[in-house]
Amino acid sequence: MHIQDVFAQHRTTTSFEFFPPRDPQAAENLLATIRQLEELKPSFVSVTYGAGGSTREMTHQLVVRIKTETSLPAIPHLTCVCHTEEEIRGILVRYAEKGIDNILALGGDPPKDRMDWDRGRDGFRYAGELVAFIQKFNASGLHPNPKGFGIGVAAYAEGHPATPNRLLEMDYLKAKVDAGADYICTQLFFNNADFYDFRDRCSLAGINIPIVAGIMPVLSEKGLKRMAELAAGMRYPAPLLRAIARCNGDAEAVERVGIHWATEQCRDLLDHGVRGIHFYTLNKSDATRRIFSSLGLRDGSTL
Ligand code: FAD
Repeated sequence: MHIQDVFAQHRTTTSFEFFPPRDPQAAENLLATIRQLEELKPSFVSVTYGAGGSTREMTHQLVVRIKTETSLPAIPHLTCVCHTEEEIRGILVRYAEKGIDNILALGGDPPKDRMDWDRGRDGFRYAGELVAFIQKFNASGLHPNPKGFGIGVAAYAEGHPATPNRLLEMDYLKAKVDAGADYICTQLFFNNADFYDFRDRCSLAGINIPIVAGIMPVLSEKGLKRMAELAAGMRYPAPLLRAIARCNGDAEAVERVGIHWATEQCRDLLDHGVRGIHFYTLNKSDATRRIFSSLGLRDGSTL
């Protein structure tokens, strides 16, 4: 289903993000997790895209399996890095042939483990160029859906580290949306005030497409540190860090604190009319299920 139709059907969407499995056993385990999460009736799910190598093919395979083996619309992520224009076109053709209706179009982080990466060989540098290319593909009528691919883009409520000038960053985001994006999904954040301010700034800039809030509960202290390494510039509110410190290293207590914090974020977002909540699941079902339950949600279709 085209993402515009998904948003037309749901006042508030829920969606779950997965990363591609590394081997066939991990793929089976993940499919089992996805089937558990299917009971929560998310509006759609998405699958991340690696910087290169076999995991890229795993993204394709997982998206196609979700489409054929579950009732869930599956959105593949696609990045500019390490792809020529021709390769991107080939990927779009394959997804179109499989009836995949949407793409999350991203810049992609510079690959750390690809010493051979030469940015000059990439077909596109910024996500906005990829959005424009997908729209060109759509216009060529190669997708079986007359609307072509629906397109999502990323944004950073707290700001993206590569563009410290926040006014300029909003200009780039507006240009990316104007190139033909249908919705925005944000990076995870822990302070809802950052999201509300971002939403207001989008509105002032004339960005009127749905903005989905990215939520990821802290599940361990190690996970928190890893998150801080991977997502440069993220803010960690003192009340959250204080609550984690009070756990004195008790792993179960940290998980409870993290899930409670994320649940409160979701409750507040729902109270403030958020258009959608996107859960970074880390390929696990438990935390997301507990958040739904504490929100009083039997499943996403009741929102
Ligand atoms: P862009 O829109 O290209 O922006 C990147 C930076 O360039 C920003 O600072 C922006 O302000 C700036 N910029 C944009 N346009 C211009 C321009 N015309 N001139 C100058 N500067 C410009 N990464 C992966 O590798 N795989 C994934 O699956 C993946 N999934 C993600 C999902 C979500 C929801 C989010 C939020 C991020 C995801 N990422 C993923 C990470 C993302 O690819 C990186 O954070 C990347 O650095 C930014 O992506 P973007 O799409 O916002 O890039």
